[in-house]
Amino acid sequence: INRIIDGYNRPNRVVEFPKKNGTPLYTSEFFGENVFSLKTMAKCLPKPVYQQFIKQMRGGQVMDKNTTDSVAHAARIWAMDRGATHFTHWFQPQTGSTAEKQDSFLTINNNFDSNGEIYQLDTFSGSQLLQSEPDASSFPSGGMRSTFEARGYTVWDTTSPMFIQPGPHGTSILYIPSIFISYNGEALDEKTVLLRSSEALSKAAVELLKLINPNPTDENPHVTHVYTTLGVEQEFFLIDRGLYSLRSDLKITGRTLVGRLPPKHQQMEDHYFGRMPTRVLSAISEAELELIKLGVPVKTRHNEVAPSQFEMAPIFEDATIAVDHNLLTMDVLHKVAHNHKLKVLYHEKPFKGINGSGKHCNWSLSTNHGENLLDPTSTPETNYRFLLFLVAILNAVHIHAGLLRAGIASASNDHRLGANEAPPGIVSAFLGEHLTEILNAIEETRAIKSSEPHFESIKVGGTVLDMKISTLPEILRDLTDRNRTSPFAFTGNKFEFRAVGSKQSTSFPVTLLNSAVASSIQEVTEALLKQKGDKPTLTDEDKIFVIRKYIIKTKNIRFEGDNYSEAWVKEAETRGLPNIKKSPEAFTKLLDPVNSDMLIKNGIFTKSELHSRHHILLEKYTKDILIEARTLEAIVKTQILPIAYEFRKSLAEGIKSIESVCSKEHSVPERNIIEITTPIVIDLQKYIDSITTMIKEVGKIDDPYKQAEYTEKNLLPIMEEIRIKVDNLEELISDKLWPLPKYNELLFY
Ligand code: ADP
Ligand code: MG
Repeated sequence: INRIIDGYNRPNRVVEFPKKNGTPLYTSEFFGENVFSLKTMAKCLPKPVYQQFIKQMRGGQVMDKNTTDSVAHAARIWAMDRGATHFTHWFQPQTGSTAEKQDSFLTINNNFDSNGEIYQLDTFSGSQLLQSEPDASSFPSGGMRSTFEARGYTVWDTTSPMFIQPGPHGTSILYIPSIFISYNGEALDEKTVLLRSSEALSKAAVELLKLINPNPTDENPHVTHVYTTLGVEQEFFLIDRGLYSLRSDLKITGRTLVGRLPPKHQQMEDHYFGRMPTRVLSAISEAELELIKLGVPVKTRHNEVAPSQFEMAPIFEDATIAVDHNLLTMDVLHKVAHNHKLKVLYHEKPFKGINGSGKHCNWSLSTNHGENLLDPTSTPETNYRFLLFLVAILNAVHIHAGLLRAGIASASNDHRLGANEAPPGIVSAFLGEHLTEILNAIEETRAIKSSEPHFESIKVGGTVLDMKISTLPEILRDLTDRNRTSPFAFTGNKFEFRAVGSKQSTSFPVTLLNSAVASSIQEVTEALLKQKGDKPTLTDEDKIFVIRKYIIKTKNIRFEGDNYSEAWVKEAETRGLPNIKKSPEAFTKLLDPVNSDMLIKNGIFTKSELHSRHHILLEKYTKDILIEARTLEAIVKTQILPIAYEFRKSLAEGIKSIESVCSKEHSVPERNIIEITTPIVIDLQKYIDSITTMIKEVGKIDDPYKQAEYTEKNLLPIMEEIRIKVDNLEELISDKLWPLPKYNELLFY
């Protein structure tokens, strides 16, 4: 390839920031302008219709025809005024990304009018808004296909507002966020189960809150709804699109299957929070502009640890919306990057030897009054509330660690989990020194050690009873130290689930987390009820008793040290914690009775839905690796080996011409290089033969688990062997000949 890429002087793309009378608008002024929000609906709809819509949405009721017809009409006019020609149900099949099928508003009226003429018009009915019918058999369904006759429905999720996105030629498209279910109502997507888990969590949390606050007051009112809050930190790489297009491994698999680490990569620690390259900043800010219009509250952007690695994070929102918004963010950035001749890589490990990317899910619980249940406030009553929810979450992780591990498993995330920059396959929770001390004090029925200055403000005595009036320091939220190595860390007023992969939808891991916590809250509530016995209300001692019980029960999964260390792997083993390194094993945790019974009992999954998920995940794992193996096979056969032969040939010719004018010892250097390359090329040919055979073997296995297992145990190691040999050649063969852009070009361009 021509090593000088014309793109080295790419012109800067100019993007107009929204202005009014020549003055730039404030971000808040155009926030959500492309969303058919409740506020917009209130303006566009007759008042009774709007009220009816709100009532039916909040109550989770079926929408009546009148209301949906009116909403559809108003949405169409609003969208068409903004250039919309088409509408689409936008949903989340189990592919990790979103799906859509666009229909235009154009209709032909078949009823002849009074003149007997057929005429054309634009329409959008309530029933078109509510549902459409894609062919479900073309989406992953994990063996449920036979039972539901290929028919599938996308149904508008009324809790998520419609929005418009740019279409071709200055037009736009109306998007209708939807769930995707089968003919029999089985969930075929990621969203349906997330909504179910949110409901289960809300129900369980409201019950617990009712029990500990039986007599609501104005200051401490009844909670009717609890929702999960989610703030998703998205990491990614941005590289030059021209260089990207020359690497079929990146194009096909999202990661480099070969490539040597350059002498300088991330060891100087100079990239994290560094100044963003102009073209990158320009692309990210254009994406932000579009996202702000879509009502996505993007907030943070910065350089990440590895060269060419970056992060975007929004302000947290209701989890069901935050999941949609993360998918939109990924999609918009992907599109906008193209305008800037950049390519965004969401793969968890695009480059070997430097950091991979994750998607930290900041997760908490909020009441319908906007109170964060994981905020360790200063008042004793809420203190118990905080502690009860805290131990319930620890208990969820304790019981369902394997399930949480399953939620983040994929062929791509396996390269990251347990590597030196990401939490390992052991799920533990980090609380920070101060909270740990508080839990230890409760466990040991002793006072909190107030030797540390920030505990001075806490009044505590030496007995259990005194313990109950101790308050958590309000400043705790600033004092929690950071443990960047923990897969599940308490960070002041929320948990941060860090092991989630950058490429995956957050829907599945959050669904599993919500479900596990819902079930654990039920268990804690039952323990409290048992403790209360015949008494009219719970006493503080009852609460402390239950809190202590769960502190002791869940102690094993609390870990404050370095999760990346070998010592932790050993300690976790003595604690009996599972260390699940690879995905096929992680997926089986979905079907462990402790997990599957819980998921089925809480109505998150039916038995067949769960089995189908398991099936789909295994199949996807095998397919991902097979595609990688075939890609590598092709690269080596058609790009690397031919170049190696050419290189050897040019050396041989060089030797001949050297020897035609000098004595033999002058061609020793060239001969040496040929000698070094010979065994490498022979090995490569041999490995390529093996991988071809193994790829065929996979096809002969029927059982999806055995297939995935075979793939993991055979294909991955041989791919690694091949990579080592290719990387050896990269070091020897002339830059002029090397057929692929190298790491230093991809990362430092
Ligand atoms: P970090 O320093 O780990 O990047 P930040 O304070 O920047 O953490 O926040 C990271 C994310 O956590 C942001 O998306 C933020 O909105 C989100 N977050 C903050 N509070 C909550 C909460 N109560 N629930 C869910 N997410 C939250
Ligand atoms: Mg981060």
